[in-house]
Amino acid sequence: MVKVEVDHGLCVGNAMCVATAPGVFVHNEHRQSTVVDAGGDPAALVLEAAANCPVSAIRVTDAETGRTLFPPEPGATS
Ligand code: SF4
Repeated sequence: MVKVEVDHGLCVGNAMCVATAPGVFVHNEHRQSTVVDAGGDPAALVLEAAANCPVSAIRVTDAETGRTLFPPEPGATS
């Protein structure tokens, strides 16, 4: 299970993440992405959405270990 957060100070609402992982992200009334269900799509799709966000507004962490999965941590090899 992953934990997913969207920084609304960065999100410009272009809906890339909503298109990629519609089970996880929806637009709120301000047309910014909101997480409705972190487990609504496979983690691989969540990571793809995070990687494709043009303003890097999406942070993904491992809910069990707290390890940051995206953005990559400095020095990470994978
Ligand atoms: S891809 Fe990024 S900027 Fe676009 S709606 Fe999602 S979080 Fe916001």
